[in-house]
Amino acid sequence: MNRVRDIIMPDPKPAPLVDGFQRQIKYLRLSVTDRCDLRCTYCMPERMTFLPRKEVLSLEELYQLSLGFIARGVTKIRVTGGEPLVRRDIVDLFRALGRKLGHGLEELTLTTNATQLASYADDLARAGVRRVNVSLDTRDPAKFAALSRRDVLPKVLEGVAAAKEAGLKVKINTVALKGVNEAELPDLIAWSHSEGFDHTLIEVMPLGELGGEDRVGQYWGRKDLKAQLAKTYTLSELAHRTGGPARYLRIEETGQQIGLITPLTHNFCESCNRVRLTCTGELFMCLGQEDNADLRSPLRADPNDNTQLEEAIRAAIRLKPKGHDFDYSRQTADGQVSRHMSHTGG
Ligand code: SAM
Ligand code: SF4
Repeated sequence: MNRVRDIIMPDPKPAPLVDGFQRQIKYLRLSVTDRCDLRCTYCMPERMTFLPRKEVLSLEELYQLSLGFIARGVTKIRVTGGEPLVRRDIVDLFRALGRKLGHGLEELTLTTNATQLASYADDLARAGVRRVNVSLDTRDPAKFAALSRRDVLPKVLEGVAAAKEAGLKVKINTVALKGVNEAELPDLIAWSHSEGFDHTLIEVMPLGELGGEDRVGQYWGRKDLKAQLAKTYTLSELAHRTGGPARYLRIEETGQQIGLITPLTHNFCESCNRVRLTCTGELFMCLGQEDNADLRSPLRADPNDNTQLEEAIRAAIRLKPKGHDFDYSRQTADGQVSRHMSHTGG
């Protein structure tokens, strides 16, 4: 990563990226690998087919593309995957991107399953990461082993504790799964809040084939979810927004709030400011649509002339769709896309 060169763009101050619905793109989700050390049942099958390694961009290439987005107005990058911390030398990428903080980039963060976080938390903090999203659907060891198909809850909790110790602000993300973690959610939220963590609950989305797992059956919509939480907690709706898709509920008993990301119940795409870049250089403008653009070929075409890359990025952004088409209302996973979340980057 020391050999990294900034992308030389034809225009020294490129215009910001604005899509056909006048949404300015300021947020890049950067998937650095589609591989993972867990096999969460709602995310991927046990025998997952991963991308051939030769198709995957080098860390330097991922960095170069990120610079291109920062130059065009992206202020926040979330490194994700697959599991980002299983990618070899990933800290080098964090260090390189961290040097862009205060120079166009305002926030560098990641989403992780935390199995390796204990080893990385200090390095990430030193690289400039201030916040981390940790995906945790249960604190019950047996349930965790069943849900992720790996018996590693202690490592995850160790990772979360290390992040806190390193001074990182932790947000726990939980996919709310009917019949799986519904009874535990109030306790999980109480734990997060007692640790000083933020907490967001997410509806399960129809992303990729699972080979038999039933997402529609596990889907737990906002209304039911709220009713379930209301058995334990006094809830009030909050009006404020933080720029993303989450809506917030205040919990009287903990004195804190939780976020709800409910793309199936509501479509909040009108304010979407993000795009997703996969580890092979496909740019997806929407998690829930198939349209994408190949940035790897133009990136590799001529390292000294980025005209093609500039054109490819602009053309892709112009095609950003209005929103996703997910819909379970007919008890089928309508709007399902073929890619798993681990491919597009969660
Ligand atoms: N491996 C990392 C992790 O789990 O945090 C990062 C990638 S993972 C794909 C990102 C997020 O996507 C996780 O919070 C996971 O729970 C969520 N996710 C995966 N498949 C999903 C689905 N079908 N519906 C909703 N969320 C999903
Ligand atoms: Fe891996 Fe994250 Fe998918 Fe779980 S949700 S299998 S941790 S990529």
